[in-house]
Amino acid sequence: MATILLEVATPDKGEVFSKEINMLIVRSICGELGILPKHARLLTELIPHAMRIKEGSGETKLFVSGGFMEVTPDKITILADAAENPDDIDVERAKAAYQRAEERLNKKSPEIDIDRAEAALARAKARLLVKGVHMG
Ligand code: ATP
Repeated sequence: MATILLEVATPDKGEVFSKEINMLIVRSICGELGILPKHARLLTELIPHAMRIKEGSGETKLFVSGGFMEVTPDKITILADAAENPDDIDVERAKAAYQRAEERLNKKSPEIDIDRAEAALARAKARLLVKGVHMG
């Protein structure tokens, strides 16, 4: 099966993921994209979500909090604000962030920065999705 190198790095942690994979499914500001080996060159911005990585018959997830993705026919480079492999995600921290963001959004007070709270909620939801945790 053909492969493409996926490299994910963050300013804080440096390299978070570096491996030959078969397919990457990401959400960009323009919608969902499936990247296969020999993909056309592309530069886009990502939104916070659980990326899906296909290797052989298996699929794993990787959290990305948004950032930039450059694609060339043999390499995908993602520079993200934050990115985490499933084992590195602290579920209790993500649940706490989820609840904080929900409480802020429910207050509907003019002091609340709605965009910021919605972005925090999206990050928390995506981290929990990577861990297979669903909030009500
Ligand atoms: P919090 O409010 O809990 O800090 P956040 O979404 O605001 O969450 P980020 O700004 O996305 O956090 O990330 C800041 C740093 O903390 C990054 O290095 C990120 O990898 C790490 N981080 C944030 N939440 C978690 C988590 N639940 N598990 C593991 N690492 C996390």
